[in-house]
Amino acid sequence: MTRSFADFIGNDASVTQMRTAYTRGQGTHAYLITGPAQIGKRTLAIAFAGQVVCHGLQTEAPCGACPSCHASGRNGHPDIHLVERRDDKRTILTEQAQEVIHQSSLHPYLSTRKVFIVREASVLENEAANRLLKTIEEPPPDTVIILTTNDADQVLPTIRSRCREVGLRTMPLGTVAKGLIDRGVDGDHADLLARLSGGRPGWAIATSDDPAQLTRRDDHLTLLETILATRRTRRLSLADRLEDSRQVARTRERMAGAFEDWISWWRDALVCHAGCPELITNIDREGALRHAAVRLDITQIIAAITRTREAWAHIDANVNPRLAIEGLLLDLPDLT
Ligand SMILES: [Zn+2]
Repeated sequence: MTRSFADFIGNDASVTQMRTAYTRGQGTHAYLITGPAQIGKRTLAIAFAGQVVCHGLQTEAPCGACPSCHASGRNGHPDIHLVERRDDKRTILTEQAQEVIHQSSLHPYLSTRKVFIVREASVLENEAANRLLKTIEEPPPDTVIILTTNDADQVLPTIRSRCREVGLRTMPLGTVAKGLIDRGVDGDHADLLARLSGGRPGWAIATSDDPAQLTRRDDHLTLLETILATRRTRRLSLADRLEDSRQVARTRERMAGAFEDWISWWRDALVCHAGCPELITNIDREGALRHAAVRLDITQIIAAITRTREAWAHIDANVNPRLAIEGLLLDLPDLT
């Protein structure tokens, strides 16, 4: 989990606030990093944690040379603890909060401080949040807690009021594209990534590092375009492509990813229909989008967005995913 402050595009004020907190002697013991999903909250938390555990804290941290920095660089500093929702759970459990409390009472292993990064503080179980609150109020002097959240309003107000809040915001697409180009991404690809990111540099950097994410999106959009070009009576077999025979949870995750991409495609169809194709996000799909915009009227496009959102909500509410996807497939318009 090596991350550095150099991994950021934009959000200069917030990044500088974290980077200089300790070197200026303005550090505190609890932070809440807020901002939309995949904007870079975890990256900022990990970069900051690397600085807090650096032995050269009083000078130019992270120094990159001390035993702590070496351990951070090897991806596993024993004094940096990442706490997140387990894959099969909807909340961060009380036992996980209890573990934070226990670990914070022990001496650090390698550094002079310990850092706990609690990802998505809004999904803390009530009891977990209440227990953690005590540690946030009166932490051991060598403990720093960093919480992150997509939605600060969903975090317990008592927790929120005891943290220093650091906000990350979406950036202009040009800023994201330029940041990617500075990292060696070629111009057209940087432009596509910036548009798809919706101004979230964290997503853009992660996707440029991991092309599999773009391949998944390509598969999702190709499937949608295939569905629309297939008569309704023949569509049901296409649902197989989103199913994972190994695990229902994976099928849900796969469908949620597909629905997100599909809604983005439909929004672009709406933009095309309004006569503003220069504003579309999925610029590599312009041909199919223009075709849909010509064939469909505005109510059909809006209905497709609403219906896809509904199917997504059903899957989230534990409806059988196969039923949810089949219902949606039959309701999407026919462009044959
Ligand atoms: Zn160091």
